[in-house]
Amino acid sequence: MIDLHTHTTASDGTLTPTELIAAAAQLSLEAVAITDHDTLAGYEQAVSAARQTGVELVCAVELSTRWRTMKASRSVSVHLLGYFLFEPPNQEFRRWLEQQIESRRIRNQRLVARLQQLGVDVTLEEVTARGGRLTGRPHFARLLVEKGYAATPAEAFHRYLGEGAQAYVPRESVALKEGIRRIREAGGLPVLAHPGRLHCDVEALLVETVPQGLGGLEAYASEHTPEQTPYFLELAQRHELAVTGGSDFHGETKPAVALGAGLGGNLSVPYAVLERLRAVAARL
Ligand code: AMP
Ligand code: FE
Ligand code: FE
Ligand code: ZN
Repeated sequence: MIDLHTHTTASDGTLTPTELIAAAAQLSLEAVAITDHDTLAGYEQAVSAARQTGVELVCAVELSTRWRTMKASRSVSVHLLGYFLFEPPNQEFRRWLEQQIESRRIRNQRLVARLQQLGVDVTLEEVTARGGRLTGRPHFARLLVEKGYAATPAEAFHRYLGEGAQAYVPRESVALKEGIRRIREAGGLPVLAHPGRLHCDVEALLVETVPQGLGGLEAYASEHTPEQTPYFLELAQRHELAVTGGSDFHGETKPAVALGAGLGGNLSVPYAVLERLRAVAARL
């Protein structure tokens, strides 16, 4: 069994890269991909632990992008995974990731101001003490829980931080097309993350972005219903896309999601998925 979608403390997970590898070894997972948001630091820190334990480690990243639907004037949030980046990734890609981190930092300043306006007692210092260089909304969520403004991180998102909630502040957004291009230029295979979460016509998105270089679909995901998984497998086949699968493990940020096993054990991704993915990537 494998897990191709995980987060560490290098972004918004709660296990360090070394702890994540130890947990994967404990579960006898054959391979894991570390897909931290906007950074490869977690992957890099995990390399030697993976070598020691024999867990196969895949270099990856997760980007937050927006897709503007062709017909409507609406845009939707789309998470994009990139697998098998050049090692080491080129300087240009690293610099571009730094810009993504900077845009989150600017958003965080505005988010703190907005929360303070709402009478919520939080400071930028407090939240960056938790999230470091890659402070994101999950770190805000944990702080809000600690301070009693919400009972769980999910409630903090619902009341304050999520799209449409009181304190929501959008981030300067990268177009999905640019995310796909950046990953391809960095040697990676771009994959649409947890498509079941998308608030748009996924097939229309594929029709537009497969010609732009999208190469895969995360058909196996914790949040997919038993009906969605076969639907996305069929969609991937129809559009000649590789299939991936992962839990989107974040540790205590999303306590219900287990490494390798997903939500209540709804996930089990066979090693063959990684073999096929590598074969597709090799043809890029
Ligand atoms: P950011 O990139 O800083 O805007 O934060 C987005 C991250 O927040 C996502 O990658 C998820 O890990 C997390 N997230 C989003 N919605 C929720 C939610 N309802 N409950 C818990 N975590 C969430
Ligand atoms: Fe996350
Ligand atoms: Fe995601
Ligand atoms: Zn993720």
